[in-house]
Amino acid sequence: MAPKFATLAVHAGAEPDPETGAVTPPIHLSTTFVHAPGNPPQAFTYQRADNPTQRRLETALAALEGGARALAFASGMAAIAAALDTLQAGQTVVVPQDCYVGTRGYASDVLPTRGVNVATVDTTDLEAVEHACSQGVALLWAESPSNPRLQVSDLAGLARIAHAHGARMVCDNTFATPALQRPLELGADVVMHSTTKYFGGHSDVLGGALVFAHDDDFAAQVAQRRVLTGATLAPFSAWLTLRGCHSLPARMALHCANAHKVAVFLTNHAAIERVNYPGLPGHAGHTIAARQMRDFGAMLSIELRGGYAAAVAVARKTKIFTNATSLGGCESLIEHRASAEGEHTQAPPALVRLSVGLEDADDLIADLAQALG
Ligand SMILES: *Cc1c(COP(=O)(O)O)cnc(C)c1O
Repeated sequence: MAPKFATLAVHAGAEPDPETGAVTPPIHLSTTFVHAPGNPPQAFTYQRADNPTQRRLETALAALEGGARALAFASGMAAIAAALDTLQAGQTVVVPQDCYVGTRGYASDVLPTRGVNVATVDTTDLEAVEHACSQGVALLWAESPSNPRLQVSDLAGLARIAHAHGARMVCDNTFATPALQRPLELGADVVMHSTTKYFGGHSDVLGGALVFAHDDDFAAQVAQRRVLTGATLAPFSAWLTLRGCHSLPARMALHCANAHKVAVFLTNHAAIERVNYPGLPGHAGHTIAARQMRDFGAMLSIELRGGYAAAVAVARKTKIFTNATSLGGCESLIEHRASAEGEHTQAPPALVRLSVGLEDADDLIADLAQALG
């Protein structure tokens, strides 16, 4: 019987050290590896090319996403750049209207300088995606649920459209994690992660990943680019992220339960115009989310009736929710995205994003209640 998800999360890539019997995997800090003169190097040569601790993490990531191969990167952005840099001049990438601000920035500011065409489309609208792809497409980028509006895109539908037009589909799965959603099973070719978030899980380690459905020439090309650009993940970071994998399923279950309680509370609050949380039956993407996710995640955003000033005021008044960027740690975070994102922002001025942590849900609700007044 194949091990189930929580078992893989604890054991994949984390086998005891064969040399010492240490149950907790060692961290190999060596930058270089011995090889016989005149002979090509064996498994490892040089830390930037590949290193044993990074490889353990990659084994875990591939197992958890159900992929054939995973590549760890120094950050989520390094993984995004590596995937987008496979595009050549004249090719087109379709990116979602609502997505991580760095993805949008790379697509709008970097890719066009290399002659790559960028089409920005509402990926929750399959007809709009079909229309955009019918003009020619090499890569379709998806992010669901999306940052910061928590929009849900039909990943199986997007994969079908991409493949019908001979394109690859990449899905940023950072908000869901494979504990809740496995895009490769829905037809995606590559899953992207900022492991800085839920995989690390403690707001203390930066990292990114690409997980490939197939161990093919495309994956090999991206792996070679990682070596040449030096975007390798450092061993200590790989080790911390591997440790984070062990508790990912347990943390996600509590994250989701807390977020659901917080979302229900916010829905009934007079100061709030709109709660963006796919777990609410009134959310535009609820039905699709219920179909393609095991649970609805712990990210949500709210739009205040009082606009910009009211949004900033809430973020200023919370005591347990810390005003900081990022997400996925044990501590709850709050942030006014429009001011945090700067020039590339498309976040509504009245929007505040919440990363619901692992504190007691009643305390989180009481904190938001006093901040909302
Ligand atoms: C944080 C984030 C990224 C970027 O990852 P870094 O590790 O910060 O480079 C990409 N996508 C999403 C959805 C994110 O939240």
